[in-house]
Amino acid sequence: MSHYIFVTGGVVSALGKGVTSASLGAILEARGLKVGMMKLDPYLNIDPGTMSPYQHGEVFVTEDGTETDLDLGHYERFVNTTTGKNSNFTAGKIYENVIAKERKGDYLGGTVQVIPHVTDEIKKNITIGADGFDVTIIEVGGTVGDIESLPFLEAIRQMGIEENGFKVAYVHLTLVPYIKTSSEIKTKPTQHSVKELRSIGIQPDALVCRSEKPLPEEQRKKIALFTNVKEEAVISAQDANDVYEIPLILRDQGLDEIIVKKLQLNVKKPDLTDWENVLLAKNNSKSIVKIAMVGKYVDFRDSYISLSEALRHAGFKTQTKIQIEYVESEEIQKHGTNVLKEMNAILIPGGFGDRGIEGMVDSIQFARENKIPFLGICLGLQAAVIEFSRNNLNLLDANSTEFNPDTSAPVIALIKEWMNKDGSLESRDEDSDLGGSMRLGAQECMITNKTLARRVYQKSSVFERHRHRYEFNINFKEDLEQQGLIFSGHSKDGLVEIIELADHPWFFACQFHPEFTSSPRKGHPLFESFIQASVEYRRTKKE
Ligand code: GLN
Repeated sequence: MSHYIFVTGGVVSALGKGVTSASLGAILEARGLKVGMMKLDPYLNIDPGTMSPYQHGEVFVTEDGTETDLDLGHYERFVNTTTGKNSNFTAGKIYENVIAKERKGDYLGGTVQVIPHVTDEIKKNITIGADGFDVTIIEVGGTVGDIESLPFLEAIRQMGIEENGFKVAYVHLTLVPYIKTSSEIKTKPTQHSVKELRSIGIQPDALVCRSEKPLPEEQRKKIALFTNVKEEAVISAQDANDVYEIPLILRDQGLDEIIVKKLQLNVKKPDLTDWENVLLAKNNSKSIVKIAMVGKYVDFRDSYISLSEALRHAGFKTQTKIQIEYVESEEIQKHGTNVLKEMNAILIPGGFGDRGIEGMVDSIQFARENKIPFLGICLGLQAAVIEFSRNNLNLLDANSTEFNPDTSAPVIALIKEWMNKDGSLESRDEDSDLGGSMRLGAQECMITNKTLARRVYQKSSVFERHRHRYEFNINFKEDLEQQGLIFSGHSKDGLVEIIELADHPWFFACQFHPEFTSSPRKGHPLFESFIQASVEYRRTKKE
């Protein structure tokens, strides 16, 4: 049976609870423990799959095809375990289960209530998700004091009592603001937040205090006194230069030691050499490249967080400093491709809906004609097919049926019947629900010999994760091939996974999302090759 570490947040959101949980996971893993990671989200959506990236940032897709919160991306970048369908659940999902049971008559005529029925369902899901791990870190979304968080907090409070004291630890993340006008550090919001937490019966074992500057001794003592937390368990987590420093910062302050003591775990000291090496690589770059990311949610950086992290990881691996230039594709549509002249590579990320598509198509034409390294991901592949069909096959109306349902050249179209991984058939049409009706999760891609894809991966087959509804329309394949488009990756049932160009130094687009499997310690061969190509492009352009 797993031990449980619950991570809650107070004062304000966006303090980095996900990164803190993931970093604690990384340290505990380095102490030899098998660490599970889980996120509880108090909102009523069944999953984040249908939420706008503007509202909620990126949707992270797990290997088993679950659409989850972006914090699971942090977990997989920091910790070696793979998350899945039992690692993230929302209040919506919990209520859906409870109501389904009520309809079935499982509650035997009882009145169905938040306590105990909803809280029991939450506890059941936590126990299932934690199965098989030595410790499981469970991050509770939202901030203490939110109405919607209450059933979750009540459930984790109950677990503290039921699971014997030594099996459960509580970590609370708060903000300690620095008030510039009076040059003072203020502990009151933290005092209030812990008071709120204690009023619902949870006494934190450690506080992680987020602040601009290190927490002075005097303030640390004050917080300890007011919150009933041991002084050494009041951790000062000042703003870091890089998220990958955080495991080292928390280790230096002994957060892991406090936790293993509370949980009575007899484990070795952590060896964080891997993380020191990541930072060493980061600080030793030999060249710098500018990568244009031409997308539609570029104003909100969390929308592409796995992707920008994957580029950074490739930078660590190739000793290259990556400067990502976020370009709003609608701007290209309006003002042309001039901004791209400065760039050493062009990247089109995934996306939904037709806004900005034409700007992406123009950017791809620019990359193709000027032989600039190009990487297209998911929508990026679809836009590349549209561009090539229009300009090389003279199919001026070429489009995806997602953007123009009446196009005379539907080079990207909806596959109406789709076989799931387990062999079951799923059908979808234009009227299907948007939630849960996509091709999702890790699927095998067979790579053709003697192609760029094969050189990149050095393998004949890879597993990469998907999240899309539309596919390349196989009817156009032969004509496109004759014009020099290479289809270098296919799924087992013949769907197109990778395209590249014959007469271009580095032009690669994939229907899958390689960014979900990149991590700072392991990197990812596709992004490394892309960055190498951009370094090379920059070098030859300069000469
Ligand atoms: N909108 C496209 C589709 O559904 C691409 C999705 C994506 O880029 N993730 O197929």
